[in-house]
Amino acid sequence: MSGAMGTMAGMNRPVDMAASLDIGLAWHNRFASLGEAFHTLLSPTPLPAPHWVGTSPAVADLLGLDRAWLASPAALDAFTGNLAIAGTQPLASVYSGHQFGHWAGQLGDGRAILLGEVDTASGPQEVQLKGAGLTPYSRMGDGRAVLRSSIREFLCSEAMHALGIPTSRALCVTGSPAPVRREEIETAAVVTRVAPSFIRFGHFEHFSHSGQHAQLRTLADFVIDHFYPACRDAPGNPYAALLEAVSARTAEMVAQWQAVGFCHGVMNTDNMSILGLTIDYGPFQFLDAFNPAHVCNHSDTGGRYAYNRQPNIAYWNLFALGQALLPLMDDQQQALDALEPYKAHMPAALQRRMNAKLGLDRVEDGDAELTETLMKLMAADAVDFTIFWRRLSHAVVGTLESVRDLFLQREAFDAWATRWRERLQAQPDFDASATQARMLHTNPQVVLRNHLGEVAIQRAKQGDFSELARLQNALERPFEEAPGQEDLAAFPPDWASGIEISCSS
Ligand code: AMP
Ligand code: MG
Repeated sequence: MSGAMGTMAGMNRPVDMAASLDIGLAWHNRFASLGEAFHTLLSPTPLPAPHWVGTSPAVADLLGLDRAWLASPAALDAFTGNLAIAGTQPLASVYSGHQFGHWAGQLGDGRAILLGEVDTASGPQEVQLKGAGLTPYSRMGDGRAVLRSSIREFLCSEAMHALGIPTSRALCVTGSPAPVRREEIETAAVVTRVAPSFIRFGHFEHFSHSGQHAQLRTLADFVIDHFYPACRDAPGNPYAALLEAVSARTAEMVAQWQAVGFCHGVMNTDNMSILGLTIDYGPFQFLDAFNPAHVCNHSDTGGRYAYNRQPNIAYWNLFALGQALLPLMDDQQQALDALEPYKAHMPAALQRRMNAKLGLDRVEDGDAELTETLMKLMAADAVDFTIFWRRLSHAVVGTLESVRDLFLQREAFDAWATRWRERLQAQPDFDASATQARMLHTNPQVVLRNHLGEVAIQRAKQGDFSELARLQNALERPFEEAPGQEDLAAFPPDWASGIEISCSS
């Protein structure tokens, strides 16, 4: 570690922890207390001439951080990694993982540095700086993140949260003119990420597959004690109970992804949160025209992480987690039994979500077929996913004309719509306006489409952050139809389908 950092000159020296700033938060750092097998203590590497890119006052509130202070020069330095924060114990954690279906061996926080854990009114929250410099786990990387990908992660974290989807949060993004080499030369940025824990499936795989089974148990006990206490008292093996509980949360998360048309893009086991949170935003995408086989990651040439494969890939990843936990179980059957409920839970959770999108309170026989017929029609006619659901919500009261306009196969749509209306109106105590109101709070008006992010990024690269702020504001209220935001809810322009987002970030 010191070798790698020692070769770097001048401003690349780690930040001086002795001169640290008290920012008024209560730091506890439970992950740091796990011991040296789990991480390397180190400091962020400063970046020159930092500037603000975006901040989330809501996340400041979550942390109990003074909103006014978040606008200060000291905050800018602290969240760029240029100023040590009193009470933190910065570290990079070690994990391993399966990438694109293959065992990748040791990975780890190659550019994210965990500052520590803050006690908040809604429980402990870990704070990470992503893009804060080299770590022992940087491998061939430079420890940095570019402005474009940092803006995408910032906006999407806050957008997903506002949609009610479990996710890491983002407090802020800062930028620096420091050059970063990707396909071309770009500039550096740091995202301050927040989550109750950043522990991944890959952390378990790391200790399991390297034969460090005492550490594996320590990690599993840590996760059970702090996040899944009910597993301790569950009948049978507590680690099997943990696997089942993680599967349940993962099923709920992926069902929400599917229902909103979200493609994660890189569902490697090292990007899977043990808490069932959406983490590590890279080449993600919200669907424009509905294509179930859509692959958003330009580097995913095999289409492993296509939209319609996400539920099965999540199971594959849970299987990898189960395999990692085997040394803590009595036999393989315990792991298989713990994974079994996912197979029913996932489709049930998804049907529940789809029913809510359709304005249906409860799931009944025939609903799966009703949904399936619709999805096939939407796929055949490449119907815009977000606009369809929004228009359908409005159409509960009034006519279906604007929904029908989205389809080429009008008669097939009419046949489907008749069945949907009958099913809707057959609900006991059906109330059209109440149903419409619920659907308008289920089917968003604005999602972070690629081209919207792209426009904000291009402006930000020129030093203009107003479009980013406008988009952030809309994404924080995704169910509102605010004046002046019509363009954010419109069909994507032709050039949107040409945007290529790869793993390069
Ligand atoms: P990701 O695809 O972003 O989830 O990253 C996979 C692995 O590569 C993780 O261990 C990251 O920490 C590491 N990594 C990605 N980009 C960089 C970078 N620029 N510098 C160092 N490590 C990186
Ligand atoms: Mg990752």
